[in-house]
Amino acid sequence: MRIHGCGPAAAGAGLCLAMLAACGGSSDDDRPSSPATATTGGSPASTATGGGGSAVSGKVIVIDPGHNGGNADHPDEINKKVFIGNGYKACNTVGTSTRDDYSEHAFTWDVAERLARILRDRGAQVTLTRKDDTGVGPCVTERAEIGNRLRAEAALSIHADGADPAGHGFHVIEPVAVGRNAPIVEPSRRLGTAVRDAYRSGTGIPYSTYRGQDGLDRRGDLGGLNMSTVPIVFIECGNMQNPGDAAKLSSAPFRQRMAEALAAGFETYLR
Ligand code: ZN
Repeated sequence: MRIHGCGPAAAGAGLCLAMLAACGGSSDDDRPSSPATATTGGSPASTATGGGGSAVSGKVIVIDPGHNGGNADHPDEINKKVFIGNGYKACNTVGTSTRDDYSEHAFTWDVAERLARILRDRGAQVTLTRKDDTGVGPCVTERAEIGNRLRAEAALSIHADGADPAGHGFHVIEPVAVGRNAPIVEPSRRLGTAVRDAYRSGTGIPYSTYRGQDGLDRRGDLGGLNMSTVPIVFIECGNMQNPGDAAKLSSAPFRQRMAEALAAGFETYLR
């Protein structure tokens, strides 16, 4: 089984083991500040261009940019085990990168900021799960708790994959029932379909050739999905190890397209 985010950028076996915990997660970490309050933003509707006609206007949306820039230098903090509903995994992971060293954490941060800007312009109340790209964590479980506390109407965790270079394309990961998340499995699947369709048509990136079916996968080993009580999906926007995908992921104009496509997914789901 492929290990999420365990690409060449992972500096050693220890980090690779930590990456088994991938992108789920739970709370008691030592992160330096509260992302929930730090980045709660979004002036409701008033300044929005076309906010009146937008389905996201007034909606509470949480965006989780996977990983963090300081994780690699703080293995003790991010390797700490947290309970993810059906077992224990590392608090957080380093993530992958392209062959040219464009990191997943920088990618997810950039797309998240672009997406947040679009949604806020349309009147949504958007919160990111971290306040910058230089911190540590938060744990995957805490990322889920941020959406839970805010009672978000929808949440999206943004990632890019570190799979075999021969594979390419994107996939959306939906939750399976693991205790507390059972009530949000069905709405999360509607969210997953909306995000998949919007991303496919908005970016032209094909469905993953190596994972899932028709751009959709379901997993019970991610804390971010297991511990959520609000509708949530993950998206692996492409495979950073694949040269074709990496070129797109590394392009700022293309990342804007990705963000606009993801915003369209929220529009569909929240309509
Ligand atoms: Zn990731």
